[in-house]
Amino acid sequence: MKIARFSHRGAINFGIVDDDALVVLNGDPMFAGFDTTGERVPLTEATLLAPVIPRSKVVCVGKNYADHAAEMGGEAPAEPLLFLKPNTSVIGPGDRIVRPPQSNRVDFEGELAVVIGSVAKNVAAADAASVIFGYTIGNDVTARDLQKTDGQWARAKGFDTFCPLGPVIETEFDLGAGTVETRLNGVLKQSAPLTDMIHSVAEIIAYASAVFTLLPGDVILTGTPAGIEPMESGDTVEIEIAGIGVLSNPFV
Ligand code: MG
Repeated sequence: MKIARFSHRGAINFGIVDDDALVVLNGDPMFAGFDTTGERVPLTEATLLAPVIPRSKVVCVGKNYADHAAEMGGEAPAEPLLFLKPNTSVIGPGDRIVRPPQSNRVDFEGELAVVIGSVAKNVAAADAASVIFGYTIGNDVTARDLQKTDGQWARAKGFDTFCPLGPVIETEFDLGAGTVETRLNGVLKQSAPLTDMIHSVAEIIAYASAVFTLLPGDVILTGTPAGIEPMESGDTVEIEIAGIGVLSNPFV
């Protein structure tokens, strides 16, 4: 089931994608279940928004694909390398990623995003599925120059607009069959099976929930494969995970 958050005629609602329409839900399904209002909104009349605004944080994993760790000039760390993006960095499908004046190099990073559905603390990897609401797509936008100069990544990864999410949350996604692909102006730049992740989604949830309490609506970005590149003004970056959709954002 694909869940969208959308605006239509001035109202913001959640809906289930049903062919070319949205079946409108009573409230946020993460908390209110899947009661429908009976209303249907044509997809062409709706503006899709980020399908979730993280309740407290976006937890990210760095260097979780060996080929990306290599292109960054090193080996992947033995344990997941965690960092955070603030929820104020989140934007939705079609929203503009904006280059901050502090940076001369802003890169895309296409990633699978996990949406947490219940309070999670010290969750065993074997139980990780029970705290997952669903999956969406994330772009871990990075000011690469500031990442190098700062050492710490809070600024380089945390600017407003640096966390596009969407287009929808798929609640029944098959991780084993997924591939993440990133296109810049239609040209394929990144392509990797999700099974290339060094630390699996379940392992990441176990590792992260031993550090932070994860709240419903928190998001985990699971790392990017090789092929990162800077964006130039006027570019459009599209990240596709078959079975979830395509997250497209212009860069200015
Ligand atoms: Mg990343």
